[in-house]
Amino acid sequence: MTAMTTDRPTAINPDPRISMGEGSLDAQSTTPSAGPLPATQIHQMLRQQWGDALLRRLHGIGRIAANLGTPAYLVGGCVRDFLQNHPMPDIDLAIEGDVRAVAEACSAELSGAQCTYHPHFGTAILRYPDGFQLDLARCRIEHYPAPAALPEVQPAAIQADLIRRDFTINAMAISLDPEKFGEFLDPYGGRTDLQRRLLRVLHPHSFLDDPTRILRGLRFAVRFQLQLEASTRDLLEEALTQNIFARLSGARLWRELKYLLELTDLPAALEELGAWQLWPLLRPTPLEVEPLLAKIRRGQQEIHWFHRHFPDEKLCDAAVLLTILWRDIPWAAEKRLHYWPVTDGRYILNDLHRLSEIPAALAKASHPSAVAQLWESLSLPGILALLAEYPETDTITKSGRYYLLKQRGLTSPLNGKDLQAMGLAPGPQLGKVLRHLHDARLDGAIKDKETARQWLIRQGILPSIQP
Ligand code: ATP
Repeated sequence: MTAMTTDRPTAINPDPRISMGEGSLDAQSTTPSAGPLPATQIHQMLRQQWGDALLRRLHGIGRIAANLGTPAYLVGGCVRDFLQNHPMPDIDLAIEGDVRAVAEACSAELSGAQCTYHPHFGTAILRYPDGFQLDLARCRIEHYPAPAALPEVQPAAIQADLIRRDFTINAMAISLDPEKFGEFLDPYGGRTDLQRRLLRVLHPHSFLDDPTRILRGLRFAVRFQLQLEASTRDLLEEALTQNIFARLSGARLWRELKYLLELTDLPAALEELGAWQLWPLLRPTPLEVEPLLAKIRRGQQEIHWFHRHFPDEKLCDAAVLLTILWRDIPWAAEKRLHYWPVTDGRYILNDLHRLSEIPAALAKASHPSAVAQLWESLSLPGILALLAEYPETDTITKSGRYYLLKQRGLTSPLNGKDLQAMGLAPGPQLGKVLRHLHDARLDGAIKDKETARQWLIRQGILPSIQP
């Protein structure tokens, strides 16, 4: 039984010298930490970075929330990104009270803002007519009934809301209250850690409570070039020794792995994954990383190529990259992939069996239809994963791209209904005729209904007297 409360031992204890943005000494060294960050300065920085229009909106929300007796704060990733002067982040607000009341009052009083309330999560979204949106959530404390279980949640004040968070860099807030607009809350020294590029959990049980934080941390480490702080590294090792990921549901693990695989700087993330001893989460057997990274970069190129040409089509990018990562897994270990927590895993396994055979078969294929059939035997992620094994100028890459661009969308000019109207009986035979028509279209033997009809007559499938 674990609970994220302030009275438990913490990896870092809230330090009065650090809180409210005061200059301080770091708990682990005597290097001076970030200096004070007064509300007036934050106010000025907000204006410079986010502009007057947004600042007015934040003042408006702060005023409405205060009138309802429910203070509002900027919180989490948006404060972290603001301190780093990163481009406009997604904005999260924490409300010390009734989120719905605040969101509805904002919607009524602020010009054009629409609110959507999600009672199940106690969250709301405020959407402005220009497309800008803000997420509102109730300040809360979380209690973990068991390691890696989902937390039980209770309303709380902002201080408790900050300690339930994953890392010090994500546990900072800025008050929107009109009396103290811009006041900076940083009880765990997140700003100093950010400046020192350190990733630090808030208490020793953090990774055991929620192992997804390990993968979140890895993403932050890569995105912001952070190092694991020493005691956090020990806690990671301890969590891995306890095999904590085995307790996490497959769906939650796969969701985090997907986010990881979708990082633009995936090669850096995979290198970090090795340093954090986390490779077993992605692959049952070790592999040589350098050649893999080249393939991953090629895979990312093919994914971009696909999205550029088919902007409306869905593709699971992570499945392409996972297929690349799972290539060449010895068959003895392959069985373990069946139990991998990948919701889209089945077709990846099928692809893995086909991938090695396809290049030789393509070389032998004599007709466009035979080539198309080979590509068709793979899933879309499987095709792109195979292309990633060859340079962009290779004939295999050209063949795969040609299939996706030109051949995949071709259909037979006559469908089942047309054939039945011509007198063919429904059944498996009809299916075969449709398949032949499709191949004939791919091979350029037919192009429309009339040439298809003549082709059927030439094949002896339709009698020549047919109109
Ligand atoms: P980004 O959206 O840029 O990836 P973010 O920090 O905003 O970064 P979110 O997933 O939107 O990421 O989470 C918002 C905030 O909620 C985080 O900054 C953190 O404070 C908190 N948070 C999210 N997930 C967890 C978690 N598993 N454990 C503890 N706190 C979390």
